[in-house]
Amino acid sequence: KSKDDGRGTWSFFSDELNRKLVQRRELEQDLRSALAEAEFELHYQPLMETTSQKVCGFEALLRWRHPARGLVSPAEFIPVAEDTGLIREIGAWVMRTACQEAAGWSVPVRIAVNVSAVQLREPDFCQSVQDCLRASGLPAGRLEVEITESVLMSNPERTADVLRTLRDMGVSIAMDDFGTGHSSLASLHAFPFGKIKIDRSFVNDLGERRGADQIVRAVVMLGKTLNMRVTAEGVETRRQLSFLKDAACDEIQGFLIGRPMPRSQIAEFLAKAQSALPWAA
Ligand code: C2E
Ligand code: MG
Ligand code: MG
Ligand code: MG
Repeated sequence: KSKDDGRGTWSFFSDELNRKLVQRRELEQDLRSALAEAEFELHYQPLMETTSQKVCGFEALLRWRHPARGLVSPAEFIPVAEDTGLIREIGAWVMRTACQEAAGWSVPVRIAVNVSAVQLREPDFCQSVQDCLRASGLPAGRLEVEITESVLMSNPERTADVLRTLRDMGVSIAMDDFGTGHSSLASLHAFPFGKIKIDRSFVNDLGERRGADQIVRAVVMLGKTLNMRVTAEGVETRRQLSFLKDAACDEIQGFLIGRPMPRSQIAEFLAKAQSALPWAA
């Protein structure tokens, strides 16, 4: 009897596993054609400077307009793109497109681009960024590269070299999702970061969970001491905004300020942001 139960369980798991593998292979094949078919697009989420309450930049966030599945989230396909190496081509497209589109904005705010570890390991990564800047005419000072701590784990010496080269080109470097990795403090010291982005999970816990307020205040102070700007991610409520203002956090990003929007909405958003500020306290 127990044997039957066991076999039943096994076949359930193996079916499930099989289904996942098939899905993954399909996703991989679809990703390959997505570039050729131009199914990727960038959406842009605004960042607001806390003191002036002005938009100081946008983060480029990748979207995949799948013919059958609709808009697919990067959380779903970036890991597969990284495993298969497709992220190199996709990432190059993101960098080129973000620079081009940002160069045409009516207000010269910064554009932040997420870069994965696989891309940083490419021998000609810095050159390819330089090419994107030259081709688009975007000044290097308007480009920011966002990386997560996991990027720093594999081959830290080489990564530090690459990041220093970018910094020397005039590009700024932000540490994304700060606080969720393993080596935050050591990394801040060893790499040329100009900005810390406090992970959304801490912002979400403000006023809700013991310690969150203190941690956020401490990270803001840490940033000031190290001469880095500090951005809070995932700000959704006015309460969070006023806490972060009070804590002197430099920049805010989140649904309260604006959701990621297609490029067609940027001009209008920038125009509105000059006059009426819906988020002004
Ligand atoms: P991330 O770089 O930390 O980007 C912030 C994510 O938080 C975005 O999710 C954004 O839509 C979401 N977000 C922003 N404000 C709020 C908020 O107030 N509330 C909530 N609940 N969420 C908010 P998205 O666009 O799904 O991207 C997920 C992740 O995928 C990004 O996290 C980034 O790690 C990765 N990603 C996106 N685009 C690219 C890309 O072009 N290249 C690479 N390598 N990774 C990318
Ligand atoms: Mg990011
Ligand atoms: Mg982030
Ligand atoms: Mg994140």
